Amino acid sequence: MSVITIFTPGMPGGPCRGSCNHTKCHTLRAMSEEQCFYCGLRFGFGAKITGEPSMHLRCAQTIAARSGAPATHPINDPAAGHQVGDRRGDKH
Ligand SMILES: [Zn+2]
Ligand SMILES: [Zn+2]
Repeated sequence: MSVITIFTPGMPGGPCRGSCNHTKCHTLRAMSEEQCFYCGLRFGFGAKITGEPSMHLRCAQTIAARSGAPATHPINDPAAGHQVGDRRGDKH
């Protein structure tokens, strides 16, 4: 998964401050105005975005954490911890 950073204007790799006619700068400014597919917030400068459709890197990580790994239990799962000692008596 490729990650794109929208660099802040004036930073190395970022667009010019103010307006200009560079295609790259125009693209970066346009990207900063786009909205995250997941949370709906404007990306803004300095954001890391990824995916198709575009979303914040942190939002993509949130989705991955929720849907990807069944081994990860919710932190507030009341049953977590009750089964820790269950297998201790298995050996005969
Ligand atoms: Zn420029
Ligand atoms: Zn987001």
